[in-house]
Amino acid sequence: MRPTRVKVLVVILVIVFWMMISRQRGYKFGSNQVVRCSQGHMFSTIWIPGVSVKALKLGSTRFQFCPVGKHWTFVKPVRERDLTDEEVETAHSQHDVRLP
Ligand SMILES: [Zn+2]
Repeated sequence: MRPTRVKVLVVILVIVFWMMISRQRGYKFGSNQVVRCSQGHMFSTIWIPGVSVKALKLGSTRFQFCPVGKHWTFVKPVRERDLTDEEVETAHSQHDVRLP
């Protein structure tokens, strides 16, 4: 296998492993991760570790557009098990653009 393909494979494996660990901790990284902005608005977004075209990533925080408050802000992932059923439902009813 070519060295470039090995590097790509290693990166993919690291991302998959990291997503598995995060899911065990209660995060749902993927197409429906609930996030909270710095003003407290909650919505769901596509959150794939290492992949983003619509946000500036800063560790576990992102700078992106909040579709609820219609502003640019920092958002952090939220564990659904820490929310009420109503909060989860509200967050999933507000989804930002379908880009990672
Ligand atoms: Zn907001």
